[in-house]
Amino acid sequence: MYANVIIEYGNKAVDREFTYVIPNKYIGVIKIGHRVRVPFNNRLIEGFVLGITNEYKGDYELKEIDSLCDLEPILNEEMLYLGDEIQKEILCSKISIYQAMLPKALKAKHDTNIGIKMNRYIVSNVSKVELNDYINNCKYDNQKEILSEIIKNDRVLVKNLNSGINTLIKKGLIKFEYEEVNRYQGNVSGKYKIVKLNEDQEMVVESVNLDEFKPYLLYGITGSGKTEVYMELIDRVIKKGKTAIMLVPEISLTPQIVDRFMTKFGSEIAILHSGLNEYEKYDEYRKILSGKVKIVVGARSAIFAPLKNIGIIVIDEEHTSTYKQDSNPRYHARDVAMIRGKYHNAPVLLGSATPSLESFARASKGVYQLLTLTKRAGHGSLPKIEIVDMKEEARYGKFILSRILTEKIWERLRKGEQIILLLNRRGYSSMLTCRDCGSVIKCPNCDISLTYHKSSNTNRCHYCNYSIKNISKCPVCGSSNMKDYGLGTEKLEEELNKIFGARVIRMDMDTTSRKGMHEKIINDFGEHKYDILLGTQMIAKGLDFPKVTLVGVINADSSLNVPDFRSSEVTFGLLSQVSGRAGRSDLAGEVVIQTYNPDHYSIVYAKDHDYYNFYQEEMKIRKTLSYPPYFYITLVNITSRDYDLGFKEANKIGEFLRKNLLTDTRVLGPSMANVFKINNVYHYQCIIKYKHDEKLSDVLKKIDDVYKINPKVDVSIDVNPIRV
Ligand code: ADP
Ligand code: ZN
Ligand code: ZN
Repeated sequence: MYANVIIEYGNKAVDREFTYVIPNKYIGVIKIGHRVRVPFNNRLIEGFVLGITNEYKGDYELKEIDSLCDLEPILNEEMLYLGDEIQKEILCSKISIYQAMLPKALKAKHDTNIGIKMNRYIVSNVSKVELNDYINNCKYDNQKEILSEIIKNDRVLVKNLNSGINTLIKKGLIKFEYEEVNRYQGNVSGKYKIVKLNEDQEMVVESVNLDEFKPYLLYGITGSGKTEVYMELIDRVIKKGKTAIMLVPEISLTPQIVDRFMTKFGSEIAILHSGLNEYEKYDEYRKILSGKVKIVVGARSAIFAPLKNIGIIVIDEEHTSTYKQDSNPRYHARDVAMIRGKYHNAPVLLGSATPSLESFARASKGVYQLLTLTKRAGHGSLPKIEIVDMKEEARYGKFILSRILTEKIWERLRKGEQIILLLNRRGYSSMLTCRDCGSVIKCPNCDISLTYHKSSNTNRCHYCNYSIKNISKCPVCGSSNMKDYGLGTEKLEEELNKIFGARVIRMDMDTTSRKGMHEKIINDFGEHKYDILLGTQMIAKGLDFPKVTLVGVINADSSLNVPDFRSSEVTFGLLSQVSGRAGRSDLAGEVVIQTYNPDHYSIVYAKDHDYYNFYQEEMKIRKTLSYPPYFYITLVNITSRDYDLGFKEANKIGEFLRKNLLTDTRVLGPSMANVFKINNVYHYQCIIKYKHDEKLSDVLKKIDDVYKINPKVDVSIDVNPIRV
């Protein structure tokens, strides 16, 4: 008997199945999906069995499988099927897909030893009467104590062995008992109250057919009660004896959602997200495998949760870019959800206040069924939004906070209400230049200017993490006449402290890198230990603070100025999301948006809470420029440490694409990527735009095959990229 084993190995060339002989002792034991150790290049590595056959036609001398890694197969039938389907869509190595499905402890070739943690208990091995008899005749206090404790509590956790326990075990009076420990302990705040759905929510719930696969798009304004709808649908699914996946953009940013789910569903939930360490992830994963869990709440990779009998998949904030993985395998959780929905014959529900253009276009064409919630569910109404032209403010010497925003902040502070301020740039300032020679201080490894961080007094690269002690002299001309430009969250915090003397808390990547800090900041702000929460886009999502009545956007242009076809969509979404944080209770909310582009349609429509007109306008532009959803895009990234070689190979690839794809397909480039040099690697790209091209996947595969074995040039293919 032979097994086909897929392995992952440092060398790019190895992403294929290899045949091994199954030793006699494993015949009938090894199944498809098993993780095995096999000899490869004179060492043992791990891989997955993808096929078992009776004969072998090749003429290599085959090696034997060395050993099994686990008792049971790691990949089940559905996962193997998913691997096939995903590979068809995104053209990546199959092993990379399997690895993405698994927690580190179960990946092939993992380099840590993440085990199961067991607690050891002692329990009685005889009747209580016998224990009592023994106590009465025993002259050792420590033994008596142990037995009395067992009589009282039935079982006792053993932290350290001692001679008493050993003796009692030897005498057969007590025995050990083991139990797996779950290292992840979520906690429930108890603040969330279960509500009764309103008529609109009821209608949405009733519209979803739980007995067949169908995609739905729930377009509901912020605070319209989408989360309650998800919970009700999931509740119904559970009552039918099925299971559910609930995806959220990044749980550590939205602890309030987890809190609501834990309150309602308690121990039937597993949580999977990047805030857990690998031990906790492994425990949560095994909890799912054991069938004890009915609901998985998690970020992108939770879409692979090994639940059986799925009854619904919900993707909240479906427009969020983090649902697409930006390294290999570049899958989109939405696409995987559709495959799994079909497999289980279950509905897939996408929800958003600002749906992606792709999803709304599909809903408009009836590919997804559109459901809507147009009113706020609880108290409160949509906030009034005001746009401030910062060009005007500059004439009054205001560069950070406009006059009106300053005044409104004062007003809230006086009333004892709270304020959220969004500034999508961390650090102190964004650029350091020399006033004498005009040099801009750049990262030596990247094509990016360094950001000054005052708290550590360093200049840092946000791409490669390069950092140096703050530069006081120009490295080009030696002048000490240096000036920093641009505004980051650190500087804004300093400014707020200077002007208002209020209690200010900052939330960005720098203040939340330690585990649990997100939750702490959010909880503290919720308890009104602070008046002002300022932060990057991580504050825009999912937070619900009744006392927040003012939201300020400090620089709405930062997302608008990104050279990317989605920049308007991203800006509209971000402004709508962050505006939705204001006025979520009886207190009316207000929003102030500061911008240098007050007439830009994404800002004007965000002000009017007008998704529909924004959608129409943006669709016109996408059509004119042949962008999604009118055309599909695939990006071919060509990278090399060698500038000239990269250029030469990128041109070859461009030619090859043009020659071999259909004539209706457009190939742009090669061109230099937006950030051309990152960590001393040069990035070229070709953009392919097409409506339908049956040749594409073969052509891309040919390119991939060639560069897989090229040690100097890397090619990565990104189907439906998030950014171009
Ligand atoms: P979304 O997910 O659309 O932003 P949520 O589900 O978070 O909306 O609801 C917003 C607020 O309204 C929450 O505080 C929630 O408790 C409340 N809410 C939702 N549905 C109802 C309802 N039917 N009755 C009363 N309050 C509700
Ligand atoms: Zn200089
Ligand atoms: Zn860098």
